[in-house]
Amino acid sequence: MKYISTRGQAPALNFEQVLLTGLAPDGGLYVPESLPQFSQEEIASWAGLDYTDLAYKIIKPFVGDCISGDELKTIIDDTYVDFRHPSVAPLVQLDKNEWVMELFQGPTLAFKDFALQLLGRLLDYVLERRHQKVVIMGATSGDTGSAAIQGCKRCSNIDIFILHPYHRVSEVQRRQMTTVLEQNIHNIAVQGNFDDCQSMVKASFNNQGFLPEDRQLVAVNSINWARIMAQIVYYFYAALALGGPMRPVAFSVPTGNFGDIYAGYLASKMGLPIDQLVVATNTNDILHRCISSNDFTKHPLVHTLSPSMDIVVSSNFERLLFDCYGRDGEAVNELMTRFQTEDVKLSEEAFSNVRKLFDSYTVSEQETVQTIAKVYDDTEYLLDPHSAIGVQAARSVRRSSGIPMITLATAHPAKFPDAVMQAGYPHKPDLPHHMSDLFMLEERYEVIDNDIGLVHDFMVNNLSA
Ligand SMILES: *Cc1c(COP(=O)(O)O)cnc(C)c1O
Repeated sequence: MKYISTRGQAPALNFEQVLLTGLAPDGGLYVPESLPQFSQEEIASWAGLDYTDLAYKIIKPFVGDCISGDELKTIIDDTYVDFRHPSVAPLVQLDKNEWVMELFQGPTLAFKDFALQLLGRLLDYVLERRHQKVVIMGATSGDTGSAAIQGCKRCSNIDIFILHPYHRVSEVQRRQMTTVLEQNIHNIAVQGNFDDCQSMVKASFNNQGFLPEDRQLVAVNSINWARIMAQIVYYFYAALALGGPMRPVAFSVPTGNFGDIYAGYLASKMGLPIDQLVVATNTNDILHRCISSNDFTKHPLVHTLSPSMDIVVSSNFERLLFDCYGRDGEAVNELMTRFQTEDVKLSEEAFSNVRKLFDSYTVSEQETVQTIAKVYDDTEYLLDPHSAIGVQAARSVRRSSGIPMITLATAHPAKFPDAVMQAGYPHKPDLPHHMSDLFMLEERYEVIDNDIGLVHDFMVNNLSA
């Protein structure tokens, strides 16, 4: 399997190379040159498979011969061992033909564990073989940092440095990062805001001269292809559990960077009958404006009750646009270059291609809280604010009530106690049992001034031998 850039001007890579790369050198994102195709008979034959056996069927063609079948199977089996539920991704029914799939059973209680647990293991395997060490550097306002740390804490070939804004992440989120005391994990609390952290990471990727010659930075944000790949699996898993592929299903996905729902689009292109994909956004609604009225313009960032969806630009949307522009890298390059500086619209043809499978809806802060309250009143099921946005969007724009609608529940409600209590829940939701000691554990982090030179000094002084 070869991977090509959405802007058409970068060399093609194999799986191992794409794993170790972030953006393509032409500024684009990597996508498979062609997708694996599964027939209805083949998909039907997977009914009843365990999550990890199904994951192997779907992931194997993307990896090609970069990793042997046996090794890949071992890596995948190991990846999902730490998930608390035997089903890995359990389905819960809210109403007739209305379901949520709980993607928060992993170690950090958010869906990002599905991809980052796998990414850490794939990287370590490949690096060991290459006798190479790399440095992961990332900025986080919450979920990504802890999922990356948990995914990489046992990787002897990776040093990981996660920057968070000092005093500006929630205590649960900070402790999920800072109580991981493995030697290769380094949390940096920057005396600045999230944008300061993100700018430092960007600048570091653009100029890696501060690192020793034998080290490079690896990206763990959702532009990394392997993250998308891991997320395709649960779309098949949910559909098979609800009568697919004989019966089509629909999904609603709480969306920020468009990584999660893009994986659903790929599942459909690979042969899974999907009737509709609902892009659910909070007040940061560039995707909703684009999909509903072809208004693809940037608005300023708004802080909401669903912070993991607070974005100005959804980077993975470019991967969908590449297909909707007939895989014309030049057209995508032209559009994305203009998008930097002016208000743009998609071409009529691209716009109508997007709307074939996708609908969208934006959920206000008030509606988010009301949805948590209403679902809890009706069913005693407690949604986190991100998942509530998914449920409300599904209810607002679903095309057919006869087709199962599955909302991806992306986080556990205990991660977002404020929103849940605003909805009238009487106390902070309990953390799952295995995390109940989170507030007693020792923390380790370094507070550093908002100065990239000092951050680089700290990193270089703390690299493993
Ligand atoms: C990251 C995240 C999202 C958004 O996912 P994207 O792939 O960026 O669209 C939604 N909900 C939660 C809880 C998240 O952590």
